[in-house]
Amino acid sequence: MFELKIDPKPGSNCKDDAERIIQAIRSGRDKKLLSILDKALKDKKRLHIEKRFVDARHGKAKVIFRFDFLTEDEELKRHTALISDTMPYLGKKFIALADRPVIVGFGPAGIFAALILARYGLRPVIIERGSAMAQRIRDVDSFRSGSSMINPENNIQFGEGGAGTFSDGKLYTGLSSGIKGFVADVFVRHGADKSILYDSHPHIGTDRLRDVIVSIREEIIKLGGEIFFDTRLTSIEQTDGKITGITVENNSVSRQIRCSNVILAVGNSSRDTFRHLYSSDIRMESKPFAVGVRIEHKRRDIDMSQYGMDTADTSDLSAANYKLVVETSNGRKLYTFCMCPGGEVINGISGDGQCVVNGMSLFARDNENSNSALLVPVDSNDFGDGVLAGLEYQEQLEHRAYEATGDCRKIPVTKYKDLKGGMTGSFDYIKPSVKPGYKTCAFDGIFDSNVLNTIDEGIRLMGKKIKGFDNPDSVLSAVESRSSSPVRIVREKDTRESVSLKGLYPAGEGAGYAGGIMSSAIDGINCANSLAFSLIKM
Ligand SMILES: Cc1cc2nc3c(=O)[nH]c(=O)nc-3n(C[C@H](O)[C@H](O)[C@H](O)COP(=O)(O)OP(=O)(O)OC[C@H]3O[C@@H](n4cnc5c(N)ncnc54)[C@H](O)[C@@H]3O)c2cc1C
Repeated sequence: MFELKIDPKPGSNCKDDAERIIQAIRSGRDKKLLSILDKALKDKKRLHIEKRFVDARHGKAKVIFRFDFLTEDEELKRHTALISDTMPYLGKKFIALADRPVIVGFGPAGIFAALILARYGLRPVIIERGSAMAQRIRDVDSFRSGSSMINPENNIQFGEGGAGTFSDGKLYTGLSSGIKGFVADVFVRHGADKSILYDSHPHIGTDRLRDVIVSIREEIIKLGGEIFFDTRLTSIEQTDGKITGITVENNSVSRQIRCSNVILAVGNSSRDTFRHLYSSDIRMESKPFAVGVRIEHKRRDIDMSQYGMDTADTSDLSAANYKLVVETSNGRKLYTFCMCPGGEVINGISGDGQCVVNGMSLFARDNENSNSALLVPVDSNDFGDGVLAGLEYQEQLEHRAYEATGDCRKIPVTKYKDLKGGMTGSFDYIKPSVKPGYKTCAFDGIFDSNVLNTIDEGIRLMGKKIKGFDNPDSVLSAVESRSSSPVRIVREKDTRESVSLKGLYPAGEGAGYAGGIMSSAIDGINCANSLAFSLIKM
């Protein structure tokens, strides 16, 4: 394995990292590495980048690459190992069932569960309440341009690709699962940039992710899977603790589907589904989650403070990242989450009467602002006991934010200096990026004083870690409330089946077992493998 440090150069416009590395070796002083490169290329070996990360410890960023040269055979061997580690039941014979496995929800967990079952030859049936990509994009664009109201079945949360579709497409996770490589490989084979295979902060970009998802859907269908869009699960039927079928609704017409195995991957915004599960005595529990705001700074200011240079001037570095956590004097934590360098704040509601924000970015990450969520963890001390207490707290918070503007198309915003009330006036230095609109409001009518004080003091403390983070003109928007699920659908540790209903496999973020695209995809794969294992012919 070789290592190379590159000083990002203003004006650099290499088309990709392989070209960047080769150029740096050819123009560098390391003669030994140059002869290794020449020999490798002569032997028809390919440059294989293992890792790329940025070292910005000394105020001036350097990009570090670890790489090797591999033959085609060596590359193939690695890929075969990736597939067999992720799909251990390939080649096994499965029991012939009278019904096909069903997957509810076509977000990252549902997509990857479906892909695995389809590759096993188990021909899954997929139910998704929102529309297929093209129609979903039309509805979301129409809401974002201000020309229509929110469509409660087709929005930033619901529709093909799930909540991840209009996201940043960041793929980092704290999970150390070998399956991560498989998920990234699937994304690349379906059109994502190769850098997600080795970057320490892999990022697809919402613009590219959309086509990637459609391409994965086409593979699932080619393998015998079937997808019903605009079709919502309304109930799960059971006899003697086992699933016997589900009822779905399309265009106000209900029908039943007979089935005995369901992977339930409905995400964290499907409150009607959670309420149905609860009233059907499916074991659930409330879980801690987090609430807060989005903060926006000028991308250039964050770049300068993190990297000592404006990343707009070079293709060697993309907009700067950060990750911060502080503890405030009331003993609470404030942490940054889902940082979107060069991105925009997005109105993420899934129904009227709510105000919810999130963040996204395009592959280029070259917008004027950088943003991130600032979150305060909340638990039963904040929302009380009861399985749905957290969900109700989340709903009330989103509704208070809505009442502050009186219009779900207008997100409450303020400058940091006016967080607790004051005159925000016009946004001259940092302009709010959220569409279709916003209204300046004091946030003391939205958050309770304890959470608000944590945000206020926490930003000041973060300003000690990143210069300018506590700029009084930083723009805050509310509320960031859906970073994880307020409930967990309790499942067996080994089989991943619901503890109260046989044949039900709760998966992904909504079920309370993942947070983010990568971990949801991995959980979907794990559930698909558990289901497949139960169907192996002994
Ligand atoms: C704007 C935005 C930006 C984000 N950015 C990132 C990021 O950069 N990186 C990252 O890791 N994470 C990001 N996230 C979070 C990430 O998208 C989620 O963690 C992930 O999508 C969860 O995957 P999932 O499959 O569990 O659920 P979801 O993606 O929420 O998918 C659930 C699906 O189920 C469907 N569904 C729900 N109820 C029913 C029903 N009753 N019947 C039929 N279908 C139903 C929904 O329509 C939805 O499509 C972002 C989220 C948002 C909203």
